[in-house]
Amino acid sequence: MFGGNKIRSVVAREVLDSRSNPTVACRVTLQSGATAEAEVPSGASTGSHEALELRDGGKRYNGQGVLKAVGNVNKKIAPLLAGISAERQSDIDHVMIELDGTPNKSKLGANAILAVSLACAQATALHRKLPLWKSLRETFDFHAHPRLPIPTMNVLNGGAHAGWVMDVQECMLVPQQKKFSERLRAGVETFHALKKILKERGGVTTVGDEGGFAPKFAYVEMAFDILLEAIQKAGYKPGKDIALATDIASSEFYDRKAKLYRMKVEGKNYTSDQLLARYQKWQEWYPMESIEDPFAEDDWAAWKKALPILGKKSVVVGDDFFVTNVKRLEKGIREKAANAILIKFNQIGSLTEAVDSINLAHQAGWATSISHRSGDTTDTTISDLSVACGSKYIKTGSLTRSERVEKYNRLLAIEGEL
Ligand code: PGA
Ligand code: ZN
Repeated sequence: MFGGNKIRSVVAREVLDSRSNPTVACRVTLQSGATAEAEVPSGASTGSHEALELRDGGKRYNGQGVLKAVGNVNKKIAPLLAGISAERQSDIDHVMIELDGTPNKSKLGANAILAVSLACAQATALHRKLPLWKSLRETFDFHAHPRLPIPTMNVLNGGAHAGWVMDVQECMLVPQQKKFSERLRAGVETFHALKKILKERGGVTTVGDEGGFAPKFAYVEMAFDILLEAIQKAGYKPGKDIALATDIASSEFYDRKAKLYRMKVEGKNYTSDQLLARYQKWQEWYPMESIEDPFAEDDWAAWKKALPILGKKSVVVGDDFFVTNVKRLEKGIREKAANAILIKFNQIGSLTEAVDSINLAHQAGWATSISHRSGDTTDTTISDLSVACGSKYIKTGSLTRSERVEKYNRLLAIEGEL
């Protein structure tokens, strides 16, 4: 079985992500001749507890180059992996973690390690002649059964992804149909209805980093209101057919010293209690299926206070709060601080560690959402991972721009296979 699956070569190079920032691509070739590639995504509203994304600094690409990370793959990691079976995913990831030797992968770079990790998973799937999601199920011992995830579609962009046209970062549609393809259709039809409404009002239909529209909204409620209108215009019932979700990304506007959330567009400051009261209003007024990062990444007290209240009606998701890190997740479970985790494999820097977080969350009865980053590529690994691990949700942006739509298209293909 472990014949031609041994790694012959590992070669990284610099490519561009959807914001035209450099990122790491990696090609793994097996002794059988099978060759597979993977590309690493990159965030903008990154959590401070994330693993380190190694950037070159200096003038080149405004300091954003990744030649150091590429060099680390080609000179340091590749020689160690030559001859090892690509199927030994966990061993491979741990060899790299040990070689790095730091808690946040700051020596080799999480972008270097993850590129190799993902390319090995892709090469293994090729070797096994299996679609990636099926191969991942052979590699890992997942806690949940495979299923198509519910898409949470970010059709209105704000915050750091859209020049602060709105205080919260994402307003999403969560279609409630049975099949993934039906959910996708409902989301797309609503997206087009939304575009018409924005055009009729002379509004802006340009898009933010994740492909969602980015008009100015003085109050966040205006964004939710227009989504309800678009849902109806497309012939669906708000709540019953399509619910809403939001990513507050509140660490982006939290003033640690003053312990205040400073909403820039509104020009108002909120204590965590006042913010909680506002979220409760949203739950009364809107079919709010999930709320992500309602409080800042280290505001544990606010999270703990909010969960018994918000958790009755909505899924409370930690993104910057947990950063796909098992240690932070363990604490969150122990302290009952949330009931779902966003999974971004570049927050932690290897596939094996991301799967550890997914399994831990599922064992605790939490929901997971497998997520893209605001800077992404046409790599569709997250689609396969979401199905393989039985994630309830996937978050992969709006319904425009190929780096987002490719992930939905990949899920359509998998729906045909399941
Ligand atoms: P990021 O945004 O990729 O810029 O971190 C996505 C999110 O906050 O969910
Ligand atoms: Zn987020």
